[in-house]
Formats: sequence, C-alpha cells, structure tokens
Amino acid sequence: MPEGKLIIFSAPSGSGKTTLVKHLLHQNLGLQFSISATSRAPRSGEVNGRDYYFLPEKDFKERIQKGDFLEWEEVYRGTYYGTLRSEVERIWQNGHHVIFDMDVVGGLNLKKQFGDRALAIFVKPPSLQELEKRLRSRDTETEEKISERLNKAGSEINRAVEFDHILLNNELSTAAKEAESLVRLFLGK
Ligand code: 5GP
Repeated sequence: MPEGKLIIFSAPSGSGKTTLVKHLLHQNLGLQFSISATSRAPRSGEVNGRDYYFLPEKDFKERIQKGDFLEWEEVYRGTYYGTLRSEVERIWQNGHHVIFDMDVVGGLNLKKQFGDRALAIFVKPPSLQELEKRLRSRDTETEEKISERLNKAGSEINRAVEFDHILLNNELSTAAKEAESLVRLFLGK
C-alpha cells in the first residue's frame, strides 16, 4: 500500500466539522476527501459519488460480508455508514493524503488501525444548546432525527479525550486556522 497519511475529523453531527474539512481541502495541502458509503437516502442537493456513495442496504451488507470496508457502523438505527478500502487506496495511489469526516466511533476505529499514520481531531461544539440550534437551523431533519443526534452527541463528547487533539469550534474562522496549523504540522508542510 502506498504511504499516504490519514487526517480524521470527528464530531457530533452539527459541530461544523464538514465546513472545516471543506476549508482544508482548499488549502493546497495535498488532501483528498474520502467519500463514505451510506445506506441512507440522498438529501436534496446531494450527489452520488460526490457527497456519498449511496448504496441500498442490501448492497451495503453484501460489501460488509466481502470485507470491502476499512470500518463501518450503524451510525443511526437502520442507517449504515462506512469507509471503503478501495476509496482510501485510490487516494493514496494518486499521491494524496486522505481526509475523513466521520462520527466518533469510526474515527477512533481508524486511528487505532493506523496509529501514527493518522491524525485524529475531535471538533467540539461550544455547548449542546448551540449544537441543537445548529441542527435546527439546517432544516433538513425531522424532530425525531434531531433528538437522536443530540442523544448521540452527549456520549460522543465523552470520548473527545481519546483523540490526538480537541478543536473547539466556537468561532469558525479561528477554528479553521487552528485546524490548518495542526494539519500542516502533522504533514510537515
Ligand atoms: P449525515 O447523515 O449527517 O451525512 O452523517 C451522519 C453521521 O455519519 C455523521 O456523524 C458523519 O460524520 C458520519 N459518517 C459519515 N461517513 C461515515 C463513515 O464512513 N464512517 C462512519 N463511521 N461514520 C460516518
């Protein structure tokens, strides 16, 4: 396998990690985004092969059986997410480092597999109240989904100490600068 590195951003849903990852992708750091597979339906505006590989649940489960995933998880009840081995290999073959946006369990799982080859960053929302506000302002989720995500956030925040760094996302431009310097330091850029 080629010698690329892994940059992992994990956080409760709504913490702003996706925005931070997008910022980093524009900084000429030689990063490429790992597109996850999921069994959930696309939200409006999401494109297959760009935002996710959208797989029917049956196909997702077949690929688990075949050992196609580096990690996978039933992130929410009945909804599967995972990182395809082929996706990461493709990015390394292209000479890039891989950047991930994933939940806390998946992020720590990858960190455990790759050790010093991986930089695992936990993005911490200022508070659960603020997280709730952000989730509601998205306006894409049902009330049930919002409370499921908030419940999960509490236990995710408890695992923050297991990451290499905790990045507080209070003010986005500050967090983005901090994320950039952490990644530059790790990659020696
Ligand atoms: P969403 O449905 O909002 O796009 O994502 C739900 C959650 O699944 C987020 O916390 C997201 O980071 C996580 N997720 C996305 N891709 C993966 C993946 O490949 N593996 C794991 N374990 N979680 C993922």
